[in-house]
Amino acid sequence: MPLFKISRNQFLAVYSTFSIGGKAKSIYHAENRQELIGILDFLHKKRSRFGIFACGSNIVFPDKGVTYPMIQVTGGKIRVHKSKVLADAGVRLSDLVDFYLNKNLAGLEKFSGIPGSVGGAVVGNAGAYGESIGDYIIKVEVWQNGQVKFLERQMCKFSYRHSIFKEKPFIVLRVELKAVSAEGMKLKKISAEIIRLRELKYKSGLKCPGSFFKNIPIADASDSLLSKINQNVIKGGKIPAGYLLESVGAKGVRVGGIKVADYHGNLFINDGQGTFADVKKLAKILKERVKRKYGITLEEEIRYF
Ligand SMILES: Cc1cc2nc3c(=O)[nH]c(=O)nc-3n(C[C@H](O)[C@H](O)[C@H](O)COP(=O)(O)OP(=O)(O)OC[C@H]3O[C@@H](n4cnc5c(N)ncnc54)[C@H](O)[C@@H]3O)c2cc1C
Repeated sequence: MPLFKISRNQFLAVYSTFSIGGKAKSIYHAENRQELIGILDFLHKKRSRFGIFACGSNIVFPDKGVTYPMIQVTGGKIRVHKSKVLADAGVRLSDLVDFYLNKNLAGLEKFSGIPGSVGGAVVGNAGAYGESIGDYIIKVEVWQNGQVKFLERQMCKFSYRHSIFKEKPFIVLRVELKAVSAEGMKLKKISAEIIRLRELKYKSGLKCPGSFFKNIPIADASDSLLSKINQNVIKGGKIPAGYLLESVGAKGVRVGGIKVADYHGNLFINDGQGTFADVKKLAKILKERVKRKYGITLEEEIRYF
């Protein structure tokens, strides 16, 4: 058997910013692109089912744990090639943002402070302030059933917090992104201000997965929904899920160890005792309240494993 770094019988909660999850029988640690391909090929040859995660900042692991192998993707390289940047899936998004800022490259500064890996960001088309990482992708290198290939941007089906990687079992290995030179000081100023604002919402050490539900693009909103909301709350063409949740009294609602923040309706916080089951129950209660009042079903931004 090839030499891989493997952890056995470890709680997945340790790998999740939400601090939820039972034991994984085995976790293969891929610390660069080559190791990731090696592990994927090895498990593929064994015809083994597997699960994959990176920084665990958008995921809720099951309380009962996982018996099939898990792969954790970390590390890797960032390189500039002409007017493009190549970044491996395991690179932290914050390191990629810093790389852009230090090389005076524009585009990613609005993603300052978003936790997670480049691969995780591509899967969820992560973003902030009206922009998403998919806007900057040229192509994505993927692994599928033992084959490595590139998907051009238009094949990735990027839309608000969505991509083809949520539909099909492609594994993201590496991405190629646009890079445009700009005035470095200006970019650094935007980045610092965004980080300051984010720190007000996400206090350090908070056990959470970021925003829980997706906002609602107005293109998807019915006339009936639009007639029930104050038009001033629409931001960047979306109705904030937090607004709908707060209007149905979500702030402070608790199930077991999971509570909705007192200061934000779309933020679930684990007090340390919270479980997958608590999260599911709380999500169900709040979805029902919103459905009753507005006739729409909120969709989770987080991913249940
Ligand atoms: C405090 C906080 C603030 C946040 N703010 C934002 C925000 O402003 N905007 C935003 O968009 N998100 C935000 N998030 C959510 C999260 O940071 C992003 O979704 C992030 O991109 C997830 O990356 P990850 O590496 O943690 O992915 P994980 O949580 O590890 O995985 C997420 C999903 O991607 C899959 N996956 C991971 N790596 C790969 C790979 N290489 N190939 C295939 N599938 C893979 C996993 O199977 C899983 O389904 C926030 C989260 C937190 C905790």
